[in-house]
Amino acid sequence: MSEWEQLINECKKCEKCSLSKTRTNVVVGEGNINAEIMFVGEAPGADEDATGRPFVGKAGKLLDIALKSLGLNRESCYIANICKCRPENNRAPHDDEAFSCLPYLERQISLVSPKVIVCMGATPLKYLIDKKAQITKLRGQWISKDPRLFMPTFHPAALLRDETKKLPFWEDLKKVRDKLYRNE
Ligand code: URA
Repeated sequence: MSEWEQLINECKKCEKCSLSKTRTNVVVGEGNINAEIMFVGEAPGADEDATGRPFVGKAGKLLDIALKSLGLNRESCYIANICKCRPENNRAPHDDEAFSCLPYLERQISLVSPKVIVCMGATPLKYLIDKKAQITKLRGQWISKDPRLFMPTFHPAALLRDETKKLPFWEDLKKVRDKLYRNE
């Protein structure tokens, strides 16, 4: 069995936290397993829980539009979340849930080995970079954690609630595209 198959099987059987009791599907992640860009969100919502696929609801549609306008698509990225199971009422994951799930994401990161990881929202910033970091202060700024670069930006769901976040989100993603494809 390949390392990926092993990882997917482990995720699907996981009962390390109580989110396993209420989930319909484990949302492992999807996309190009050799991608240079990885997008990390918070946790599945209702649509993702129902389908087992990340970012397929309203926020996901917005992400797809942003990807498309940058010349990217789901096949050129890998998309995952801090937690692989849905927290009830779409609340943010608790520390114990995030910390029990993180080793899976860390294995995905080392298998994909992306050059850039886009942290979408406060939750991935908190668990991948710094517990105290604030998305409003750090978004749009490169963070280097050898061998990878991290770009914190808003979560697409935040754009649905607050239109003024659309432009900065778009600018942050343009920085990612320019770094990878225009050597800037
Ligand atoms: N929000 C997230 O953070 N992740 C998803 O997969 C869907 C919505």
